[in-house]
Amino acid sequence: MSEPETVDGASPERVAALTENLAAARQRLGDAARDAGRDPAEVELLVVTKFHPASDVVALVELGCRSFGESREPEAGRKAAAVRAAVDEPIRVDMIGTVQRRKATSVARWADRVHSLDRDAVADALARGVETAREDGDRDSPLDVLVQINLDGDPNRGGVVLDDLGALADHVAGLDGLRLRGSMVIAPQSHTPAHWMEQAAAAHARLVAAHPDATEFSAGMSGDLEDAVRHGSTCVRVGTAILGDRPLRSP
Ligand SMILES: *Cc1c(COP(=O)(O)O)cnc(C)c1O
Repeated sequence: MSEPETVDGASPERVAALTENLAAARQRLGDAARDAGRDPAEVELLVVTKFHPASDVVALVELGCRSFGESREPEAGRKAAAVRAAVDEPIRVDMIGTVQRRKATSVARWADRVHSLDRDAVADALARGVETAREDGDRDSPLDVLVQINLDGDPNRGGVVLDDLGALADHVAGLDGLRLRGSMVIAPQSHTPAHWMEQAAAAHARLVAAHPDATEFSAGMSGDLEDAVRHGSTCVRVGTAILGDRPLRSP
């Protein structure tokens, strides 16, 4: 693989904005957990840095963040490598965007966890990618995966429809190299977030009944994290509330 790119420092203004936004997001998450009678430590804050430059990710590491979400290859892999080379702290970088089968091999090299698995064929490709990455010395552990639930059947959102969730989960659980850890959901815009989070939580509960180790429930974004936490989210994926609007093009 090529050398990681070097990362410039973020400007003082940018660091100040990230500091303020991050504090507000942590406060919101803490309040949401306490309102739901939950321990805030039970809910991971995954900072979604897609489309934002590696300098922002490095600044966020310096502010104490350790888990990041990215959504597109090859931008994601390049950025993960650049940030890992630039910081001393171990960080986790998760893939939260739809994985294309032909990019599964590269995703398996850098991702700590994939939130967005939605097809048997992609699961197979990721499992093969893990094997290759192990042979090449690029990874030494299985890949944690969440199956993405599609609640309203809209193919643009990605995910597996509820009727097929059980079969996909069983398939993933049978693959060497992958570890089925739970489910992920993106709430559709129609209806209230509470409506969708309730349905997602019910689907997640069915998954856990069949696969007791698959307890992670990745739900909630900038706009609906309170509803997600109320319905049992163990990981909220927050982008805009911390980094601001995404640039239209990736850097
Ligand atoms: C972009 C993205 C997010 C972050 O959304 P915000 O509204 O910016 O917080 C969360 N989850 C997924 C799957 C995404 O693609």
